[in-house]
Amino acid sequence: MKIIFLGAPGAGKGTQAEFVSKELGIPTISTGAIIREACKAGTDMGRKAKEFIERGALVPDDVVIGIVKERLAKSDCDKGYILDGFPRTVPQAEALDAMGVKLDAVVSLEVPDEEIVRRMSGRRVCPSCGKTYHTAHNPSPNGDACECGTALSIRADDAPDVVRSRLQVYHSSTEPLKEFYSKKGLIRVVVGADALEDTKKRTFLALGI
Ligand code: AMP
Repeated sequence: MKIIFLGAPGAGKGTQAEFVSKELGIPTISTGAIIREACKAGTDMGRKAKEFIERGALVPDDVVIGIVKERLAKSDCDKGYILDGFPRTVPQAEALDAMGVKLDAVVSLEVPDEEIVRRMSGRRVCPSCGKTYHTAHNPSPNGDACECGTALSIRADDAPDVVRSRLQVYHSSTEPLKEFYSKKGLIRVVVGADALEDTKKRTFLALGI
């Protein structure tokens, strides 16, 4: 299956994508995680992307499209994949079409803005393996450390003022994709504002798995 998770930053795309990935045995491709890795490694792309990420802006389409093209060419994508955080603009969605990708479903994970701002304050990420947690809704069994043992940290772009810019960017640039994929009959709306397990059930139901 080829699945896209659409939704505001902090809606829980990464967490739900991980559940589906385990269930179906297909990889999750998170452009955010790939870009953060590149920033940490200090590659050319990482250095260019850093200034966009830090102010809550989108990294330019051509850069992200290049990342995805390269990643989808790897053999673990042969049986399908989940895209988490891509596409985020109509030109990115058009580029995916141009790559010849035939999607099975686009899950639109819907959470009100106020809930997003509240959630982001509890989000923690592992700087080593990239796994994400939430202090209240999805805590690590190791407390302040990841399951891999590394101390968890707070993403710089989860600061409240950056979150508000990211939400604005989501509404202006990414939300139009709901219309784009509705026209193709691919959208499955999932309410994501309740408990994690409820969202998981609704997501699996929406995907027929
Ligand atoms: P995420 O982890 O998905 O919230 O992504 C973190 C940041 O990476 C975003 O705020 C953007 O700056 C950048 N990013 C990730 N995916 C994309 C994308 N598809 N297009 C543009 N920028 C992206």
